[in-house]
Formats: sequence, structure tokens, C-alpha cells
Amino acid sequence: MGRKQHRVTLIPGDGTGPELCGVVKDVLRAAGVRIVWDAVEAGGGVVEKYGTPLPSHVLDSIRRTHVALKGPITTPIGTGFRSVNVALRRELDLYASVRPCRSYVGLGSRYRPIDVVLIRENTEDLYAGVEFAAGSREAEQIVAMGAGKIAAHSAISIKPISAKATKRIARYAFEFALTHKRRKVTAVTKANIMKFTDGLFLEVARKVATSYEGTIEYEECLVDSMCLQLVQQPEFYDVILLPNLYGDILSDLCAGLVGGLGMAPGANMGESDAVFEAAHGSAPSLKGLNKANPTALLLSAALMLDHLDERNAAQRLREAIADVIREGKALTFDLGGTAGTCEMGYAVIEKLVRSC
Ligand code: NAD
Repeated sequence: MGRKQHRVTLIPGDGTGPELCGVVKDVLRAAGVRIVWDAVEAGGGVVEKYGTPLPSHVLDSIRRTHVALKGPITTPIGTGFRSVNVALRRELDLYASVRPCRSYVGLGSRYRPIDVVLIRENTEDLYAGVEFAAGSREAEQIVAMGAGKIAAHSAISIKPISAKATKRIARYAFEFALTHKRRKVTAVTKANIMKFTDGLFLEVARKVATSYEGTIEYEECLVDSMCLQLVQQPEFYDVILLPNLYGDILSDLCAGLVGGLGMAPGANMGESDAVFEAAHGSAPSLKGLNKANPTALLLSAALMLDHLDERNAAQRLREAIADVIREGKALTFDLGGTAGTCEMGYAVIEKLVRSC
């Protein structure tokens, strides 16, 4: 058991975020990891107080601790502020999103054993937030440049992909494969249609792959075909490298293959900072009901423990979660059970305490 004390920023978020974070804090304490939490608030709830959903003290805290555990934060659709989650990744240059998806015995998934890791570029693509409203001067200029290919008065989103960011994420994917003893990286694009943007992503990924020849296998797949392949033969895939938007979509698909969003953890990694969060959103309809599945955030916390070099505790936590799922007595509704968020958390704590 690690004796070191860690300082970690905690962003409880909104919706189901605070109740899930509460459970994770209790579980980590039971795992014997010593963490001093620096709790800070972000999201719609703080706009009135600070004039922004992402106050500077939140970023300052992470720049100090270099590690954060984050609950989900709601993003208003269509209007209002842009995503705090996206802004956080951009401000801290958390360029790599790591989303492991593996199946657990006891969940009765209709799919064969799955163990894939999606590595998603986190800073570019249609997530860059370069958008022009229909009828705006900029949109009209681009419509004119489209030489008849863009309908008049269209709204426009720009999809930037750079060689620099692609090289960085491709290297991350191959290094991840090496250090985690994985065998293959599959690069996913729509380069047959988006020849310049996805084409560049593929060209750079290919170049990076040559440095790992003979060590890590490399292959390519178009994103539409990848969706089909993942549903038909997911066991064929290992590490999957994607630009931002496809990464977002396919990580939900992969979560669906292994039991749903409540089972999908995530890590946003930068050169100096890391933010760990579940792949799912704030699930507003479950807020305050003690119904949300805590597994995704618990598994995100296990990734955080690996990062903090608390590997023993991380492994014990993963085994405790796997035991609870295998036994099937304390599962939340999305996994076919009747337990609440807290009850599933207590069950994990019981296993951890026994494994001490
Ligand atoms: P969501 O992930 O919140 O919910 C999708 C579905 O999954 C819902 O049916 C929900 O009830 C279920 N679900 C989600 N988490 C669950 C859990 N832990 N246990 C059981 N069921 C769970 O996605 P959404 O409804 O599209 O988004 C809600 C809000 O969250 C939006 O404002 C969105 O922008 C935001 N969001 C935030 C993040 C983040 O903070 N990183 C990520 C995705 C979405």
C-alpha cells in the first residue's frame, strides 16, 4: 500500500457528478490511498458567482496539483456557454484522451471478451470551436469560396487537423501500446472523403507507425467500417487511434459493447497535467436519485492511481470492482440490478477492506 500523500484537484461537476465523486472518495480512502483533495467548482452553477463556467482558480489548482478527478459537467445545447470539458482540455493542453473498454464476467454482454483502448486526439478537429452562424459575414465569405458547393446561408464549422497535433497523438498511441504490452494500433479516419484533413491524419499516423515496425502492428480502417467491425468482431481490435470527433462517437459505441456508459472510464493526458473522468455525461435524469452507476468514475480513479504510481491500490480497486460485478448482488439498474450508487460503492469498499 502506498504511504505517499497525494494532492489532487477534485471537480465534482453537476448532475450525478457530486454523488459519484462522493462514492469515489470513500472507495479511495478504503483502498488506503492518502489523498488531500483540493475541491473546486466549475460549470453552469458558478457562472453567476464568477462570471464564467471555468473560473481561473480551477485551472490554477490543476496547474498546482497536476492531477484532477472530475465529475461530468452539463453543456447547454445550441445556446449558452461552450463546453467546460472541452475548454479544460484546451487550456491545459490535455491532448490525449484515453478510453479503455473491457468486458467483465457477470455482465452477460452479447459480445465476446473485449479489451480495447481508444486513443482520441483531444484538441483539434470539429471540436476546435471555430464556427460561424448562418448569415454571418464570415459564413457568407466561406459560402462564396465554396464555389457553389455550399448552400447559401449555411452555418459553417471548421475542421482543423495539423501534422503537429497528429504526430503527438499518434506517438502517444504507439507508446501506450508499447508500455501496456499491446500488439496493434488501428488508425481510424474518413480519409477517402476528407482528403486533406483526415488524409493528413492518416499520412502522419503512417509515418509514426514506421518507427514501431516489427514491434507494434499497424493497420487502418475507415470510420464507418470501424463501427461495423466493432459490432461484429470487437475482439479483433486492440489500441484504436482516432481524431477528436470520431473518438467521441466510437467511445460511446465501445462503452455500449461492454455494458453501457456506466462502465466506461477515461483519462485526459497532457505533458504535465492529467484529468481523469468517466466517458459519460451528467445524466441529469438520474441526478440525486442514488441510481447512477459509479463504475466508470471508479475505473477512471483506478487510471488516476496508476498515474500516481499507486499501482497496487489501482489493481486491488479493479479486482474489487470485477468481484462485485461477477457476484451480481450489488449492481445498479443499468447493469440489471437494483442497488443504488452508494450500495454498489459500499460493496466495492467491502471487497477492498477484505483484500487489505
Ligand atoms: P449522458 O452520458 O449524461 O447520458 C446518456 C445516457 O446514459 C442517459 O440515458 C443516462 O441516464 C445514461 N448514463 C450516463 N451515465 C450513467 C451512469 N453513470 N449510470 C447509469 N446510466 C448512465 O449523456 P447526455 O445525456 O448526452 O449528456 C448530458 C449532459 O452531459 C450534456 O449536457 C452533455 O453535454 C454533458 N456531457 C458531459 C461530459 C463531461 O463532463 N465530460 C461528457 C459527455 C456529456
